[in-house]
Amino acid sequence: VLDKISDLQKQRFARVNTLKMDTESVIGELRKQYEVKKDDMVPDLLILQPRTDLHNHPLVFSGCVFLQGKGSSMVAVALAPEPGWEVIDACAAPGNKTLHLAALMKGKGKIIACERDRERVKRLKENVTLAGALNVKVEHEDFLNLDPSDPTFSKIRAILLDPSCSGSGTVVDRLDHLLPSHRAGQSADEMKRLRKLAGFQKRVLEHALSFPAVERIVYSTCSIHQIENEDVINSVLHLASSRGFQLETVFPQYPRRGLPTFDGSEHLLRTDLVEDKEGFFIALFVRKNIRHLKDE
Ligand code: SAM
Repeated sequence: VLDKISDLQKQRFARVNTLKMDTESVIGELRKQYEVKKDDMVPDLLILQPRTDLHNHPLVFSGCVFLQGKGSSMVAVALAPEPGWEVIDACAAPGNKTLHLAALMKGKGKIIACERDRERVKRLKENVTLAGALNVKVEHEDFLNLDPSDPTFSKIRAILLDPSCSGSGTVVDRLDHLLPSHRAGQSADEMKRLRKLAGFQKRVLEHALSFPAVERIVYSTCSIHQIENEDVINSVLHLASSRGFQLETVFPQYPRRGLPTFDGSEHLLRTDLVEDKEGFFIALFVRKNIRHLKDE
């Protein structure tokens, strides 16, 4: 019941797809019916009153607006790809963050949107078409099968890595995670599942770190568990630094940081399950002084 109540009190967010419509025009249209504010951190993200339901709104049907939460919308902004860059979205479906990347890149450059699951590839393709994201190339492939030494990827400058996770920070899963029994400790089965997920997350992150021209990598989850978040980042720090990457602070103005489990965890960002009503985690690796083929 408490969960239901807090859900009703939850602000709603909507991201303007600037590939199709500019933010001021969307605000003008929505204000005919709703109270609308702009988010102060994520450009083109709008805040609506609790209970506002835009699911059947024409702007959503036409792909001018995507119903994407704040934590999710911070991820592509943290990666900050420039128009014209070549970028991989490693675990892309259904494509919320891919389409956000496309908008930030103003439809210029190239985004390889990689997705392993056949059914989810269909959703991804539909969303790409709906958004009018012409610079997105959908690849039905396991990201781990992309060969970093393949010339196709020699100019990839940024990777967004939002791998499968427990989803423990999402609304659907939330009630379960607020139960005292759950907070007291995870069941053996749950711990086994989390360890398996964490192993996979580490592998894909290590793979992302091996692309030769990459300067920026964002790792994100919608999990609240340290094992999928800080522990995964901590486990690749040595490899990352041997390849010239460092953690950089994600949204420095944001108050909630990574759990203090290692030196540098203050660079990481966490949204709070209770305060923000969703639990997201974002880490950013940056490699400076990379010389690009096109610059040589
Ligand atoms: N980034 C998406 C968004 O914002 O809409 C959500 C991604 S979801 C958390 C993770 C996705 O990664 C799932 O669709 C899953 O099928 C896909 N996936 C899992 N392992 C993968 C792999 N090895 N290669 C490519 N995709 C993978």
